[in-house]
Amino acid sequence: MNDYRRSMDTKIVLLGPPGSGKGTQAEKMEDELGLVRLSTGDILREAVRNETELGREAKGFMDKGQLVPNDLVIDLMKEKISHLDDGYILDGFPRTVEQAEALESIAEIDHVINLEVDDEELVNRLTKRRTCPNCNAVYHLIYKPPKKEGVCDRCGGKLYQRSDDSEETVRNRLKVYRENTYPLIEYYKKKGVLHNIDGKGDIKEIFENIRELL
Ligand code: AMP
Repeated sequence: MNDYRRSMDTKIVLLGPPGSGKGTQAEKMEDELGLVRLSTGDILREAVRNETELGREAKGFMDKGQLVPNDLVIDLMKEKISHLDDGYILDGFPRTVEQAEALESIAEIDHVINLEVDDEELVNRLTKRRTCPNCNAVYHLIYKPPKKEGVCDRCGGKLYQRSDDSEETVRNRLKVYRENTYPLIEYYKKKGVLHNIDGKGDIKEIFENIRELL
């Protein structure tokens, strides 16, 4: 099997605090490795925009930077994953040990990539982040500006600032990350599938470091 085919079958979890580059790297992996990307945050935001029952239940938690309750997220992601045959990237799931255990009951994860970035850099990245509501591409006003101000390079969508990217909510999201998601690093280390990757620096270099280990 050649390298491309092998990566097509690979099941990957992207781990790391909010703003560590999970969305940016998942987008590159989707474009360049042909893996399907499932972003829990994107799915939830779409549900909020469409005012579905799930969206109405999730909105209050998301606006405050809190996690959406496990039962809602676990059912949602189990359903989405059940439609996928080949490899995929999970961006933002699991975020708690309970979610990781639920994932383990339905899939065997090959690699967990943990993107490491310090808090001050995360706050800087998130408060200057802009997102495309159509294709979910992510930009940064200084590090990765779109070619045309306010317009998505990929699909022409009108870029916006996520409501949970304000400084106060960002600091709360980092606290929530430390309390709930950080323990997953140890969880996956024990399973022998964890790779720590320096998430600071050039986007392409980080992507090459990820590609090398797949
Ligand atoms: P993200 O786009 O990954 O930063 O997620 C945005 C928000 O969606 C989070 O702050 C949570 O409120 C919610 N969310 C995303 N993924 C999960 C998850 N796995 N479990 C619970 N809530 C989540």
